[in-house]
Amino acid sequence: MKNILVINAGSSSLKYQLFDMDRRAVRARGQCERIGLDGRIKHTVEGRAPYTADRLLPDHAAAIRAVTEVLTGPETGVMAGMEEIVAVGHRVVHGGEFFSGSVRVTDEVIAALEACVPLAPLHNPPNLVGIRACFEVMPGVPQAAVFDTAFHQTMPPVAYLYAIPYEYYEKYKVRRYGFHGTSHRYVAQRAAEIIKKPFESLRIITCHLGNGSSITAVQNGRSVDTSMGFTPLEGVPMGTRSGTIDPAILGFLGEREERTAAELVTMLNQKSGMLGLSGVSSDFRDLSEAAERGNQRAALALDIFIYTVKKYIGSYAAAMGGVDALVFTAGIGENNAKMREDISSGLSFMGLTIDKAKNEAPGGEGIISADGAPGYILRVPTNEELVIALDTESLVG
Ligand code: AMP
Repeated sequence: MKNILVINAGSSSLKYQLFDMDRRAVRARGQCERIGLDGRIKHTVEGRAPYTADRLLPDHAAAIRAVTEVLTGPETGVMAGMEEIVAVGHRVVHGGEFFSGSVRVTDEVIAALEACVPLAPLHNPPNLVGIRACFEVMPGVPQAAVFDTAFHQTMPPVAYLYAIPYEYYEKYKVRRYGFHGTSHRYVAQRAAEIIKKPFESLRIITCHLGNGSSITAVQNGRSVDTSMGFTPLEGVPMGTRSGTIDPAILGFLGEREERTAAELVTMLNQKSGMLGLSGVSSDFRDLSEAAERGNQRAALALDIFIYTVKKYIGSYAAAMGGVDALVFTAGIGENNAKMREDISSGLSFMGLTIDKAKNEAPGGEGIISADGAPGYILRVPTNEELVIALDTESLVG
């Protein structure tokens, strides 16, 4: 059995999934929480009761050790020993301009990841800590890095450069990078397979709509534009993130509220978006319920989200000279039929007509557009961990 461990390390948490690559199935999954504070591990194996235990986790290496113990323990385990793991795949948020695909981790790769830290100061350091912890706990096991940004490295300069003095791109690499790349790549490829057309011949718009949301234009199998930018703050309004706003608002508010740029960026990341507009919640289910009860600001927040997503779809269709498939994924895109219907409404002029019955039918991936419409609309559940496992498998051979 070929086991690959997928790790997604955050600042105080570490999520893991163990894949059996022969079956492409998850054997066990879980999460270490409160790393550096006290520590807890939650571990699930299909067909068994979930296991939760408080455990001292002073650092990420301790967390990886705890993962290896539950994966091999007599009560919780699914393997006899860690030598059964053939490779580890890591989710890494930012690969800067260094990486346009997944890579096997070497000393050079680690140095490049360190060089990317200023671009993702909250995310890359814990990703690096996770990689180092695995080298420490599982020496000799090959490791791969799979980047959120890599798929978007094919964007042309017209899509990735901001119209600010060029020197800031040269000096600091300020540009659009885009995120959720693993998800956009996976659902675009799946959509091509489902409609049975060559990926390299299609114009696809992928809508990853979750707590964080981004829209991507995928032309001939490559990302050509995406709504998130230098950071995941740009684009459509999200749960707590503002999305794109006029940057002059920062100067205006900074003066009047006597707040620093850093404080205002925190406000845009954490107190804006659906939460800021509605005053109710960042969660779309809560917002839908509030809107149904007559809360006008919750309804307005949802309308602003729908309107903005629709504008991105229109602009990417224009950028690609049309659209063959529109794909919905992530928490909202996969589960919220009303949102898919509202976003797709009025798009028949560009060949996209949703089928109400197909859209509302329960189920996983599939076509939800009307039979005979020139373009397709699809719902495709994302599976970033599986992509990380598959990339890792192909890199380590
Ligand atoms: P994600 O970040 O992809 O986990 O997505 C989180 C968002 O998806 C939240 O705003 C949830 O309200 C929404 N969501 C998740 N599951 C459902 C569901 N079954 N029905 C409607 N919305 C959902």
